[in-house]
Amino acid sequence: MTMPLMKPRRKNPILRTRQMNLPPWGRSRAAMGLTVAAAEGRFELQACQDCGAVQYPPREACHACLSPRLKWQPQSGAGQLLATTTLHHSNDLFFRERLPWRLGLVHLDQGPTLMVHLHGDVGDQPQRVRVGARLDRAGRAVVIAFPESETLNMADDKTLREMTCDPKFRKVLVTDAMTPAGQSMVRAMVKAGADIVWAGHAEPWKRHGSGLDDITALPQVTLVPLDLTNARSVTELAGEIGGKVDIVVNNAEVHRTFGIAARRGTDAARAEMDINYFGLLRLAQEFGPALKGRSADGTTNATAWVNLLSIYALANFPPHGTFSASKAAAHSLSQCLRAEMRPAGIRVVNVFPGPIDDDWNQGMPPPKLTPDSLASAIVKALRDGVEDVYPGDVAQEWLERWRENPKVLERELAAGG
Ligand SMILES: [Zn+2]
Repeated sequence: MTMPLMKPRRKNPILRTRQMNLPPWGRSRAAMGLTVAAAEGRFELQACQDCGAVQYPPREACHACLSPRLKWQPQSGAGQLLATTTLHHSNDLFFRERLPWRLGLVHLDQGPTLMVHLHGDVGDQPQRVRVGARLDRAGRAVVIAFPESETLNMADDKTLREMTCDPKFRKVLVTDAMTPAGQSMVRAMVKAGADIVWAGHAEPWKRHGSGLDDITALPQVTLVPLDLTNARSVTELAGEIGGKVDIVVNNAEVHRTFGIAARRGTDAARAEMDINYFGLLRLAQEFGPALKGRSADGTTNATAWVNLLSIYALANFPPHGTFSASKAAAHSLSQCLRAEMRPAGIRVVNVFPGPIDDDWNQGMPPPKLTPDSLASAIVKALRDGVEDVYPGDVAQEWLERWRENPKVLERELAAGG
């Protein structure tokens, strides 16, 4: 049984912070399908469209009939553990620093046999296990076997924690605590066991009746001044807490409901860009380096960067046209951030919600995403270690339509949905 994680002791400031050595990350193009599915929390393997054989490792042609028609399909992961072994030596620096490390051989019910990492609660063979795919610290999919049913403190397992971004005992910055969504986020982080939550607050003079009193009453929460439109404000806060933050949740956004013709001038669009795009850029320049430097710093290392984007980042929703454009820009920038953070082992999590139940979506018909469900989707994403999240029914439906045909979706949205 996994022992519950204990709060780490205060670090000796004289000791050098360990540098991150990534696990091996080379993968073939064919194998990338495993990573694509794991990034959204699914375990998929290729299945042959001609004979049905399930493949592992990923390949270009079916191992049974040589057909090239292989399709990635979700797998249950149920299987039989055949053998286990414990590594006490490794030539790879990442594993050498984390020894001993257990591996196993699992025969999946669907056919293939896999070499897997083992969750600590998986005992010796023979036993039934459940295999899942997770992203490792290099951002590539690896397979890990879990016990067949849930066990106590499962998330605290040492092997699993290397693959997830669990907020437990970590220090979190939420960039905007003024909105209901931000306040839900702060509460969810405290509930998930965060050690400290810094709650950003752009206008410290506007406090009364804003719901801030509820969250500041929580002992873990500290209000900090942070105005993403002001480079100096971002620099100052980074100087103060940058070296301690383990998870950044950038939820600050400006949302106006205009297309192009509905309004003259560019003021509203600039305000959106200034927070949604340039705000992210300012934040990433100031907080990024410190986060990267602490990605191997003990059990509560710096681990993740969360961006609140929008499903409108994928395709423009004309009634919210300039907002969509600012989120598309932020999405593009977050892909750059992800590429720059990857070598340090920091995960960039992009969240693409549908309309949130807030002031700016009053005119939208339901279903709308409540601030609490948005916050729990983000916490779940961190715990599961996924990097792309589409919370809510609207986002899921848009995603499906966008994947099917982006051009058709564009035309449908132009015609009013
Ligand atoms: Zn086949």
